[in-house]
Amino acid sequence: MLSDYHLHLRSDELEATAAEHFTATNVERYREVAGERGIAELGVAEHIHRFREALDVWQHPFWRENARDDLDEYCRFVREETDLRLGVEADFIFGSEDRMANLLQARDFDYVVGSVHFLRDEALDMEEYSVWSTTRSAEEIWRRYFQTLGEAARSGLFDILAHPDLVKVWGARRPRPEGDLRRYYELAIEGIAESGIAVEVSTAGLRKHAREIYPAPAFLAMCVEAGASVALSSDAHRPQDVGADYAQALELLESVGVRELCVFERRSRRLESIGAAVR
Ligand SMILES: [Zn+2]
Ligand SMILES: [Zn+2]
Repeated sequence: MLSDYHLHLRSDELEATAAEHFTATNVERYREVAGERGIAELGVAEHIHRFREALDVWQHPFWRENARDDLDEYCRFVREETDLRLGVEADFIFGSEDRMANLLQARDFDYVVGSVHFLRDEALDMEEYSVWSTTRSAEEIWRRYFQTLGEAARSGLFDILAHPDLVKVWGARRPRPEGDLRRYYELAIEGIAESGIAVEVSTAGLRKHAREIYPAPAFLAMCVEAGASVALSSDAHRPQDVGADYAQALELLESVGVRELCVFERRSRRLESIGAAVR
């Protein structure tokens, strides 16, 4: 069994409207590629900031610009018109945990993918509002990122911890701390271990400047050692990226002894064997 739980039915462009992309025809395009790649278990996790309801949680200017769609209409579409699992990609917003919990608990998601895209008001993976254009050092950004990741795990808001070392997204285009990076991974491990959150192995990093799977092998090994289960995803924003580079991800999973993947239904989790996966 292979899964791809972190799918977006549209690109991050504002012009990529719900009306155009939340359609049975578009979902069929994703299903078709998944079928060719031997992936049966699919779920969609649109960004929470694309929905108006998210402004009850956070009022960042980027969210205000993006919050145009109706979250309940999205949930209805996925449940009634598709055979996809219903997920959402929600941010960990420090200080807004209760408001995020209210928003998430009011809907019957199969799972919630939790992301750290921001350190307070500053973005890790966007040019706009970028934390990298501040005077902060790489060491400080990495330290704060992994501390925040641990807090996100511990918050209990999420089922899956998305792209767990997103801080490397820019690769050589941004400064990176020297030496053994495990001293940063350590900062998140306790939260991951205590919460029992599933850790996402995402091939999206291969399509970014990082040119690496999220998380790095050493970080994944630490998560597995701490008892974490794994959810496998591509973070595709278009059909051709569904299950992208899964052969490489499966090799990584094998190297750290992971033989099972998480399957979610109405926020409860079970493990299924990867088995003789299609390569
Ligand atoms: Zn993300
Ligand atoms: Zn995503």
